[in-house]
Amino acid sequence: MTYDNILLETYTENIQELELEQAGLTYYPGYDGEIVEKFVTCNRPTCPCHRGYPHGPNKYFRHREGGRWKELYLGKKIIGDYLPKVESNNRIREIDRELTDLRSKLSAVKRRLGLRDKNDAPVQMRNDELD
Ligand SMILES: [Zn+2]
Repeated sequence: MTYDNILLETYTENIQELELEQAGLTYYPGYDGEIVEKFVTCNRPTCPCHRGYPHGPNKYFRHREGGRWKELYLGKKIIGDYLPKVESNNRIREIDRELTDLRSKLSAVKRRLGLRDKNDAPVQMRNDELD
C-alpha cells in the first residue's frame, strides 16, 4: 500500500463518519451564533460587584440580527433551551468545514492515484474541437 492509498482510505472513512454524525444532528433556525461568558456589574451602587467582585460568569447568546451583533442574556428560563441548540448548529457548521477540507484532499489523492472523482467535472469536448 502506498501512502496515498492509506490517505484515500483514511479520508473516505473520516468523511463517512462525519456525514453520519451530521445526519444525526438537528439544525435549529434562529440559533446561529455563539455562547459567550462575561463578568458584569449591576445597577446597585452598594453591590460588591463594584469593588472587584463582579457577577458571573454570565452566559450570553451572541448573534447577528439585521447586520448587527446582538447579545441575549441567557437567564435560567431560556439557557436550557439555547445551549444544546446553539451547540448543535455550531457542530453542523464545523462538520461542513471539515467535510469541505476532507473532500478537496480526497480529490487531490484520487487525481494522484489516477482515479476518477465524482466531484470532477465531466470531460467535455470544446466546440472548436468538433467538426
Ligand atoms: Zn452587583
